[in-house]
Amino acid sequence: MHTFKNGYNNDIWIGQGQAYTVSGGLQWLSDAKPAVLWFYVAWNKSNIPKHSFIYWLRSHNRLLTKHRLKRIGIIHDEVCYLCGVDDETHTHLFYECQYSRKYITLLQQFLRVNFRLELLHHWTKNNRGISRMQRQLVGACHVGVVYAIWEARNHTKHNDSILMPRVQVKEVVRMVKQRFWSMNEYSLSDKELHWLATIKSQNM
Ligand SMILES: [Zn+2]
Repeated sequence: MHTFKNGYNNDIWIGQGQAYTVSGGLQWLSDAKPAVLWFYVAWNKSNIPKHSFIYWLRSHNRLLTKHRLKRIGIIHDEVCYLCGVDDETHTHLFYECQYSRKYITLLQQFLRVNFRLELLHHWTKNNRGISRMQRQLVGACHVGVVYAIWEARNHTKHNDSILMPRVQVKEVVRMVKQRFWSMNEYSLSDKELHWLATIKSQNM
């Protein structure tokens, strides 16, 4: 298995000089399991590629959390960088950490939708009150927030300071919306246009 750093950096494949693509990422990640539901969230074409990649690693518990580093003898302390309370496992960092939960709360408020993080896959696949466009945009924002949490964790690790969740979530939504509009695939209904109009950065 290649490491993240050996394969891909800043939207460019290292050693090849080619831009990252989702299909290229899938080929490289030869042990991906497309049958599972997270696949549809991870490789949603509305996602920002670097967000998808971190989300994929998270889904397979392959991010180098302190828990993993301690297990292989590299470090001895595994207390979470963000909250300083519990051990930094994948489950803690992305589902339980008091600090990282702020990201999900902010995203829910900003998008004006309600979903339980652990049920997002079902929400994005099965919620009949939500259009395909809304599912894609919410899913892409969620994947972006996972990236933002990992980014915040690394920032705190290296800089001994914290990033503002509100600023990061705002940037995630801005990036996703920009990508979404650039794809220009949908003929939007009045209801969808109204929903998009409510998502305004200045209200965050
Ligand atoms: Zn924590």
